[in-house]
Amino acid sequence: MVMTDYINGKETEMRLWMTDPKLMCRQHLLGEHRECHTFVGSINNGHNVSGYLNGLVDPRLIEQRHDELVKEMIRRGYNHHSPLADYDHTIVGHVDPEENLKELHRRCPACRALIDKSECSSVW
Ligand SMILES: [Zn+2]
Ligand SMILES: [Zn+2]
Repeated sequence: MVMTDYINGKETEMRLWMTDPKLMCRQHLLGEHRECHTFVGSINNGHNVSGYLNGLVDPRLIEQRHDELVKEMIRRGYNHHSPLADYDHTIVGHVDPEENLKELHRRCPACRALIDKSECSSVW
């Protein structure tokens, strides 16, 4: 199973950021949305997802997260034609949204611009 994603030509691990969708650039917003579908597909195909549960994905929250991302995508005028498949919601993972927001701020100039504008980063 290939669970890598490519952003700016750089290999990154698949993860759900779980940060405020309004503070994510187009690429990260659409990337995380795609990963919701990919991850559910992996669960439903019986793949071992245990490597993602400590810090990268909390499967209990994927459906709720998918809907949040779609709401923001539609607000920005992007299309969405892909209902999320049903899956096992009982798999427990852990994600730290605040750490992830800091990481996006470090990593991505486009996200950084949105975060700085929102003054979220002023509390750091
Ligand atoms: Zn979708
Ligand atoms: Zn970004």
